[in-house]
Formats: sequence, structure tokens, C-alpha cells
Amino acid sequence: MIRVDLSQEEIPTYWYNIVSDLPDLPPPIHPATKEPLGPEDFYPLFPKECVDQEFSKEKYIKIPEELREFYVRIGRPTPLYRAKRLEEYLGTPAKIYYKREDVTPTGSHKLNTALVQAFCAAREGLEYLTTETGAGQWGSALSYATSMMGLRALVFMVRISYQQKPYRKLVMKLYGADIVPSPSDRTEIGRKYLEQDPNHPGSLGIAISEAIETAMKDERAKYSLGSVLNHVLLHQTVIGLEAKKQMEIVGEKPDVLIGCVGGGSNFAGLTFPFIEEILRGKEEYKVIAVEPRASPSLTEGEYRYDFGDSAGVTPLIKMFTLGHDFVPPPIHAGGLRYHGAAPTVSLLKSKGVIKSVAYPQEEVFEAGRIFAMTEGLIPAPETTHAVKAAIDEALKAKEEGKEKVILFNFSGHGLLDLKGYEDVLGL
Ligand SMILES: *Cc1c(COP(=O)(O)O)cnc(C)c1O
Repeated sequence: MIRVDLSQEEIPTYWYNIVSDLPDLPPPIHPATKEPLGPEDFYPLFPKECVDQEFSKEKYIKIPEELREFYVRIGRPTPLYRAKRLEEYLGTPAKIYYKREDVTPTGSHKLNTALVQAFCAAREGLEYLTTETGAGQWGSALSYATSMMGLRALVFMVRISYQQKPYRKLVMKLYGADIVPSPSDRTEIGRKYLEQDPNHPGSLGIAISEAIETAMKDERAKYSLGSVLNHVLLHQTVIGLEAKKQMEIVGEKPDVLIGCVGGGSNFAGLTFPFIEEILRGKEEYKVIAVEPRASPSLTEGEYRYDFGDSAGVTPLIKMFTLGHDFVPPPIHAGGLRYHGAAPTVSLLKSKGVIKSVAYPQEEVFEAGRIFAMTEGLIPAPETTHAVKAAIDEALKAKEEGKEKVILFNFSGHGLLDLKGYEDVLGL
């Protein structure tokens, strides 16, 4: 079977909460007192239901019925494809499957959580959500989600991207979002940076600080984050829960599971429902997190407490980190720039449940080109990392003469990020 579909009724009715199976997950702590933080500390910042999910120890958390309708709207259940033409090109006995998270209106998995966060904000009576965006994937997803839920989004966009990436900005505008180049004169922290340099290029760290400051000062607003946090990864598990059913339909069990990692949300989304079986001692999957060599937090970082943002305004979280002031070199075009990785993903790495690998950008963009030529889809720069690892595993299977089954997450398409291909491959 080249494509495996599920019916709309088969959209999962619950999310899988891996925190329930990781009793030793270190809590977030206060930077000054080093005391563990609880839900009350986060209620002023995030929608209340999301905070409750963040700290929940329940194994399965129900997906509200109204929300499942919005999942239908964005194309869930998404199809599972077999990469038959890629297999033939590689001459491998391995079977390669990929989950199509690129089919959503904004072209990536990020809507799976953006919709939930906007839904909870609307139920709570909020008027708008603030967030930050770099290249614009997360900003586009949140703008779509807030417009569907009758809310507004206020997006602080890193000034240099605001100037250089006009198309995602237009996507956000079409969904009715307010977009402010950051640093801006709307916040204290933004004004501080603008005094230093009226043309400050901005950074994700500054944009986060501006979004948080705005949400904390206005009771009509809260803040929204697109990765790293437990509740964000929780929402993404619809990917893996669907993929499990689809693999059952083809009558196949994956030997290898693969996802690219920035903060870890799409990787977690695909793999956590499978990792649950590893944690129960039922299965032994090989699970690979793929990173850019320019930002290899799981592969080369240290497992310790660090700030979640670069400005140092968030709580401390225990994760694999390159240091919160880490900045990848400017020639890096492959995305996945975050200095750390989600606490749950980091804990699984420290326990040896998952492995990680880091590739240079020339190799991942080349893998993206091969995928476009064989499967006909142009992967997002981030997604090319997963494609590259899948190709490597398939070639290993060829060497060993083994009929391995490989499953990877196709997190998004690259149609709004073609410049990376141009720059790195010299097209
Ligand atoms: C944002 C993004 C990623 C990286 O974020 P994670 O939280 O690690 O999943 C990967 N792929 C695509 C297409 C993205 O937009």
C-alpha cells in the first residue's frame, strides 16, 4: 500500500501523556530560590487548561469533541505514505514509511497544538494570545488557530526575519494577526534594546521576552509557545496515535522511528505513543532524534538546568542544552536552532531510550533534493534532517541485507523556505 488513510471517526479521542510514565522527570525550578514550581506559578502566563495538562499525571487526556472537528478541518487524520520510489532509488530491502504532517493549511505539524492552545484561551474568555516567531512557521500556525477560535494573535517577529521573510508575514496577516517587528517600542524590554540600536536585528530571545511582558501586563491576554513544554508535546501525540493504527493496517511494526528535533515536539508527537511500549518493556524500537550539526543540543549538549529562553527570563528547566546564549552560525539554513530540547525528550536521551544524531546542512539539503526527485515532495529544511536519517538507516539495512521497517515524521513542506535549498545546494 502506497498510502494509508484513516476515516474522520478514527481521529484519536485522547492524547497520550508520557509524563505519567516518567515519574522521575525533574520539575521546572525558580532561578533564584531553586524551588520546584507548580501550576499556580504558570496560571498567569498560559491558558489555565494548558497549565493543568502541563502538570497532569494522567496517562490519557481527553480531546474535547469540538476540537476534533477542528482537527478534521486541518486534514486529520493525516495520511501515512510508503516511500516506494525512494526505496527503489536506494536499492534497499528496507521499507520506509512517513507520516504526512505537511498536509495542513500552514504546512506543518504546528497546528496540532496551536488549535488546542487557542481553543483553551477562547474557553477561558481571553481576547488574544501573544507569541514570538522567527522564520514564521509557529506564528502562521497560531494566527490560523486564533482566527478559527474567534481570537486575535499578537506576534512578535524577529526584525531581521520580518524584513527578509515577507511570505510568512503575509500568511499571518491574511489570518488577521497583528505582527510587530521585535524589538518594538510596545514593551519596556523592547524599548531598552531600541535605545541601544534603533535598527536592532532582534532575536528569538528578545521576542519571547516581549511576548511574555505583554501577556503579563494585560489580563485579556496570555502567552503561547510552540514546542518544548509538556502540554505542547502532549497535543502532538495525535501524530503517533494515528500512525500506530496505520502501521497496524499495513500489518507492519517499525524497527526504527525517526523525527527531527528543534524543541522536540514533532519528534515526540510521532514517537511517544511507541515509546510507551518500550517503557512498559513490550517492544524494543530504535528511536532516533535528528539534529543539525550547527545546533546539536541532544548530541553534544550537557544535561543540566538552564533557562528556556536566551534572555534568561523563564524558569529553569532540566534539559540537554548548549547554553541559553548559544547562537548557531549565521550560514546555518536548516532551522532547528533551539539551544535545548524538551525535558521529556532530554530525560529519555539520558536514560538511553532514544538515540540522537547530528548532520551537516549540505547532507540534509541533498537528502531533501533526493526526496523531491523520488517522492515528489519538497521537505521543509527541518524535515530534511529526518529524511537524511531515514536514508542512512535504509542504506545500513542494505549493507546488512536486512528487511527493516523505518517510520519517520514528515513534519512539513518547504514551499515557503526554498531559499535554504538555493543557498546550500547552490541551485
Ligand atoms: C517548527 C518545526 C520543526 C521543529 O520544531 P519541533 O518542536 O522540534 O518539532 C520541525 N519541522 C517543521 C516543519 C517545523 O515547522
